[in-house]
This record gives sequence, structure tokens and C-alpha cells, in this order.
Amino acid sequence: MSFGRRTFIKSVGAVSAAAVIPVISCNSNKAPAITGNGKMKLSFRPYDLQLSHTFTVAGHSRNTTPVILTEIEYEGIIAYGEASMPPYLGESQESVIRFLQKVDLGQFKDPFMLDDILSYVDSLDEGNRAAKACIDIALHDLIGKLLDQPLYKLWGINPQNTPETSFTIGIDTPEVVKIKTEEASRFKVLKVKLGGGNDKEMINTVRSVTDVPIYIDVNQGWKDKHEALDMIHWLKEQGIVFIEQPLHKTAVDDIAWLTENSPLPIIADEAFQRLDDIASFKGIYSGINIKLMKSTGLREAHKMITVARALDMKVMIGCMTETSCAVSAASQLSPLVDWADLDGNLLIDNDIFEGVKVVDGKVTLNTWPGIGIKKINT
Ligand code: MG
Repeated sequence: MSFGRRTFIKSVGAVSAAAVIPVISCNSNKAPAITGNGKMKLSFRPYDLQLSHTFTVAGHSRNTTPVILTEIEYEGIIAYGEASMPPYLGESQESVIRFLQKVDLGQFKDPFMLDDILSYVDSLDEGNRAAKACIDIALHDLIGKLLDQPLYKLWGINPQNTPETSFTIGIDTPEVVKIKTEEASRFKVLKVKLGGGNDKEMINTVRSVTDVPIYIDVNQGWKDKHEALDMIHWLKEQGIVFIEQPLHKTAVDDIAWLTENSPLPIIADEAFQRLDDIASFKGIYSGINIKLMKSTGLREAHKMITVARALDMKVMIGCMTETSCAVSAASQLSPLVDWADLDGNLLIDNDIFEGVKVVDGKVTLNTWPGIGIKKINT
């Protein structure tokens, strides 16, 4: 299947009947009037993200990430969404397009009925989490734009409470790791990938350049729980904050043992996908890494934070390599989490959006409505 680069290939969902949406008045005179005659129109196209550096984690390397960019047009307003499909998650541009072709937004007359719309989208098929996320993100962008408010404000989130974001250093030779670490000097925290057989060399190289706190992501790369614990004790002495997915996600008993004995928090990433995973993780992991491409978008991600907090678990928000669209969307929730790893848009050379910024190492939200992005390229 081949795709035209700049051609949106499908439009669905025109509503023929008059919608029963009240006219909403807002203090801002920029707020568009909602007439109740809206027709939600979904369109989408494939796009390949070009990575600035070859990205290597335990298990694989790559230079591009396939994404699908979506738009929902409603009453003259265009809202944006994105699905990112790193190969290990099992989705592709083809599978996302197949899913989106099944979505009929035309049956919904009110875009504010997010629970109804997203429950319908989720019910269309199993899996397809990134495909579902690109609709969720665009709908949240839409309601923010309709109300002329940034999403964090609609959720009552204080934008001043954003965390610092880590910047990721992939597995590589000491020479390259040193250069990448030096290039990342504007970040106040780094995330270092381990599990490639050169763990101490990686950390020693980073530490030869900087003393900033380090998050560790093993991507399931360690094989033995006792060796893992020995390494964690060594890492603790090197100023490491937490360990993400140290062992394979199926090694549940070993991970529970490691969490019980580890001096550092153990965070679930590959093992963790949806909201109903969280309760069973209590006692096995210290916390969870939420990503919109796993959670099916913002709405479930917000619920995940609430549930994890109720279970007294740590919360991290991360991303895939993505444009500023999906990263800015995730950033709207970042004031609610312990740790953020929202650098996906900074790892690519062909972003087409302007959005969230990293200022003095901190995730910095703007006041633009919706998910806080503007399209700067096609
Ligand atoms: Mg991870």
C-alpha cells in the first residue's frame, strides 16, 4: 500500500441533520460561536518522522518512525491529532488507516460528548491503541478550540506545575554517548537506555560529562533478577532516580521481587497499556509510564493518573517519537505527574507543528487553545 505524502486520503462523518448543541458564550471575544449545525469531518494521512540520530534501545535500532496525522474539521475549526507507531507496538500506517476507515464520527452531533464518542471508537476493535489516540487527541484539541481555552485549563490543571523533562540518550559507543550528552546540556535530567551489554560504560560516559539526575530505561533488557538488583545498587550510587522496565514484562514474579528489594522505584512501561492494568500492578511495580499511544489518548490517560494516585503509585508520562502534536497533547497532563519524558518531538528533524517548549529544562505550556499547537509546515 502506498500513500501520497500531502494528500488526506479519506473524509468521513458529515452530519446531515441539525445538531442539538447549545450556543456557548465565552468571555473571550475570540471564542467561536457554536451554532449547533456542526458536521464533524475526519481526515488523515501518513507521514514519516526523520530521526536526528539513529535510535538504539535494547533490541533494535531505527532512523524513522511512521505516524498518521489526523484532522477533525468542525464548523470551520480544524483540530489535530496524531498516531505514532514505533515498530515494537505492532501497529503500522496501514493498520491505523484500516481502523480509521471504520470510524463514523457523523453519527455524533455534539463533539463535547467525549465519553460517548470515545467509547464507540474503543468498541470498534481490540488493540489499535495509537489509532484510537489520534482521534482522542484531535477531539480534545477541538473542544479546547471551540471553548477558546487550553486543555489544561478545562481540566483545572495548574500550568506552572509542569515538571522538567528528561532527554533520552540511546545505547551507543562511548564516543557517541559523550557527544549526545554534551548536546543535551540544556536539559536538567537525562534518561539513559541500558540493557545493551555496556551498562556501566554508558553511565560512566554520561557521568564524565554531567552530574544531572538520570532516569534509566532498560526496555526489558536485563535477564536475571539478582544481576539486576546488583546493577540497581550500583546505579543508585551514580545518582539514578528510577528504573523503567528492567526485566521482560512476563517475568511478573521476578519484577515483584525486584521492586520489593530495589532501593530505587521500578516503573512499568512495556508491561503497561490500559487503565484496567493498573490495579494488578500494585505490589509488582512502584509506578507506571503513561503514553498516549498506549492509553488510547488523553481521556484514559487522565483517568490512569487518578487511579494510580489512589493506589499510591508513582506516575510518569512519556511519549514515542512524535511531532509536537502528540507531545503537546501529553504535556497538558504533565503537571499531574512525578516525572516526564516528553522529548519525542526533539528527536526528529521534520516536525510540522509548533507547540510545547522546553524552557530551562522544564515542560512549558503555552496559552493556545486545545492541545496548544500551531501548524508550521505541511
Ligand atoms: Mg520505556
